[in-house]
Amino acid sequence: MSRNQIITPISQQQQAEVIAATNRCIDRASVLYGRVFETLPINFDLQGRCAGMYQVRGSMRRIRFNPWLFAKYYQDSISDTVTHEVAHYIVDRLYGLKRVKPHGAEWKKIMLDLGAIPKATANYDLTGIPTRQYQRFAYSCGCRTHRLTAIRHRKIIEYGAKYLCQFCHGRLVAAPQETL
Ligand SMILES: [Zn+2]
Ligand SMILES: [Zn+2]
Repeated sequence: MSRNQIITPISQQQQAEVIAATNRCIDRASVLYGRVFETLPINFDLQGRCAGMYQVRGSMRRIRFNPWLFAKYYQDSISDTVTHEVAHYIVDRLYGLKRVKPHGAEWKKIMLDLGAIPKATANYDLTGIPTRQYQRFAYSCGCRTHRLTAIRHRKIIEYGAKYLCQFCHGRLVAAPQETL
């Protein structure tokens, strides 16, 4: 596969299979632990090197999956990644996320109970997987456009930091914003 070729993310049909597998896994946990864990919203909006993420915002809980990594490693993902994220959810409901380590003994026990190997990381080959695009901010000096990271941009805005162009030694000033 060539360097620039991007994997096609999983289809609607496969997304439906992943959602069904996730819900089955949650149901299995409900039976195992004798209480009802509700199903969650599942989004396929994760990019980069993470295959899955269990996310809590206020009272909102959801599971996010990476549709490119799922496409590249479908069988592994629909078993391992699904169980991995469901186990985080069950830990959250049984213990509370703040009270235990993310991949601690509680999570490991639940992974084993659900029939999975409690391995916290996977080494995926990311060829063809689009990685997160970091926002850059356009600045100009006397000679060219510079693209500063969000961190540098914030230092300029909030702390009045000064950066000079290494070529013309002119001071960098904000150019009309664009996102790369
Ligand atoms: Zn995890
Ligand atoms: Zn310059």
